[in-house]
Amino acid sequence: MALQTILERIRAAEALAGRAKGSVQLIAVSKVQPDARVRDVLEAGHRLFGENYVQEAQGKWPAFRAEFDAVQVHMIGPLQTNKAKLAVELFDAIHTLDRVSLAEKLAKLAQARGACPQVFVQVNTGAEPQKAGVLPESLDQFVAHCRKMDLNPGGLMCIPPEGEDAGPHFAMLAEMAARNGLTGLSMGMSGDFEAAIAAGATHVRVGSAIFGARAYV
Ligand SMILES: *Cc1c(COP(=O)(O)O)cnc(C)c1O
Repeated sequence: MALQTILERIRAAEALAGRAKGSVQLIAVSKVQPDARVRDVLEAGHRLFGENYVQEAQGKWPAFRAEFDAVQVHMIGPLQTNKAKLAVELFDAIHTLDRVSLAEKLAKLAQARGACPQVFVQVNTGAEPQKAGVLPESLDQFVAHCRKMDLNPGGLMCIPPEGEDAGPHFAMLAEMAARNGLTGLSMGMSGDFEAAIAAGATHVRVGSAIFGARAYV
């Protein structure tokens, strides 16, 4: 199945970059995919998934979690502040912390719960006006502000501009993470995950290359 091919390509990219085997985690992005395809990937033994929509994840994952052990689901889509409470209950990680108001909300929820999903700060590396994410020049201050609130990001995430070479964006994200003492790097999708691994990705988010094209209705 496509999952095995992608896993093999990830292991090969790790080796080529001189990185430890298993240092890159594959997030199988299951948004908008039929349950039967998700089930196939679960039955093949994969346990880490990514979703873009809180409501869709809420409808899909409680049942799969009850049926399969050790499932992890990461939120990789834009998160509205009014869905943050539900999100911290549903997800093991949130890759899309992109603004101060959401950081404040997550910090408050973490304090009340005494626990918090792993958090990645999304960086708008291409400074695209329509794209979410903290601007590169504001990142250091943003991370410091999070830490002051006891919200400790584990890494950075980016979605490079479409139609551009992603390599420089991956390199920029890695540099910003190192500068801020962050070890997680969520970068790379179906078309460019090998380049992301070469640049130090710890989490690649691969959807269509595993599940096939998404059928939006
Ligand atoms: C949908 C999505 C992916 C997966 O995209 P593919 O091109 O299908 O691999 C990865 N990251 C984010 C943020 C996404 O929204």
